[in-house]
Amino acid sequence: MKNYAIAIHGGAGTIQKGSMSPEKESAYRLALQNAIDAGELVLKSGGSALNAVEMAIVALENNPLFNAGKGAVFTNQGKNELDASIMDGSNLMAGAVAGLIGIKNPISLAKAVMLQSEHVMLAGNGALDFAKQINAPFEPESYFYTDFRYDQLKEAQKTDSVQLDHNIKTEKKFGTVGAVALDKNGNLAAGTSTGGMTNKKFGRIGDTPVIGAGTYANNTTCGISCTGHGEFFLRAVVAYDISCLIEYKNFTLKEACTKVVMDKLVKLGGEGGLIAIDQHGNIELPFNSEGMYRASKKENAEMFIGIYRD
Ligand code: ASP
Repeated sequence: MKNYAIAIHGGAGTIQKGSMSPEKESAYRLALQNAIDAGELVLKSGGSALNAVEMAIVALENNPLFNAGKGAVFTNQGKNELDASIMDGSNLMAGAVAGLIGIKNPISLAKAVMLQSEHVMLAGNGALDFAKQINAPFEPESYFYTDFRYDQLKEAQKTDSVQLDHNIKTEKKFGTVGAVALDKNGNLAAGTSTGGMTNKKFGRIGDTPVIGAGTYANNTTCGISCTGHGEFFLRAVVAYDISCLIEYKNFTLKEACTKVVMDKLVKLGGEGGLIAIDQHGNIELPFNSEGMYRASKKENAEMFIGIYRD
């Protein structure tokens, strides 16, 4: 039996100390804590890393503070288009969904794609047909709407820019969500869920639902969930790159994360970060942006919660 471990993120970006009221900061901390608790509950009772990842992400998707599920950012057309992916490190099975409108918990649909279809990735209307077939919960447009995300869209439209939700120069900086877990049986899993980038157009899809870019898990190496400017994470194939450095070059988790997040991504101009756990239960939470909402917990240890570059 292994000691379990879990890590989560709520997005990386321009999150500066002093730019947030103490009340807001406590609300984020509480939300991160609740999501870790939801995942840990599964792990403690001997449940799978896959289910722990799903439960932690569902808690974050249901919280309007984060850019996933309820509270997701708006597209240029004023819609909430959601992306998510999940991977089981024990068998390299994976599921992903992209460009979804109206799905309450995209991470659970991604898991259903993995377990109940013969495919890895479903997108748009086809994915919605699959969701109806398996009776996945839908919500009306109003469920996803939040004033502050709508204000962010209006702000981004002034300059016709596509923005990482946290980088907008307002008080409202929240993010994409993800979780990685190692269960008592030594299995790793990872998942990520997002509304993408504010003011996105043309069916733009980032790294989040792309296995190997935004999410990856392999029991022999590590589990990874990313957040940041998706185009760069796609080009750097970030999550798989870290796994490869461990598998083929014998890097430690820390060395691999540092190489990819602090060197490779920085050289490309890619802002963001990730959460990672390896097969030994080591946890890394690197980011090259000003902050990243993050939390982690190992069996029999204190929970860590961080927001800024401390
Ligand atoms: N990586 C996400 C995307 O590009 C955004 C984020 O992490 O906030 O869609």
